[in-house]
Amino acid sequence: MFLHEEQITCPFCWEIITLLVDPSESQTYTEDCSVCCQPILVNTDIQGDHITVRVAQEDLGF
Ligand SMILES: [Zn+2]
Repeated sequence: MFLHEEQITCPFCWEIITLLVDPSESQTYTEDCSVCCQPILVNTDIQGDHITVRVAQEDLGF
């Protein structure tokens, strides 16, 4: 399986980090920031080759 690399801005510390996204299906999950270790809510929307990634603070939601 190939993972897609997507750069996002952490909603907690505002650092730019790289997420590895599974391009096989749209999903919502929580991933800890690699810089500040806070839980980032990640939503991926897969439309063919086009991947949209949204992030939010986990306790706030989208
Ligand atoms: Zn962070």
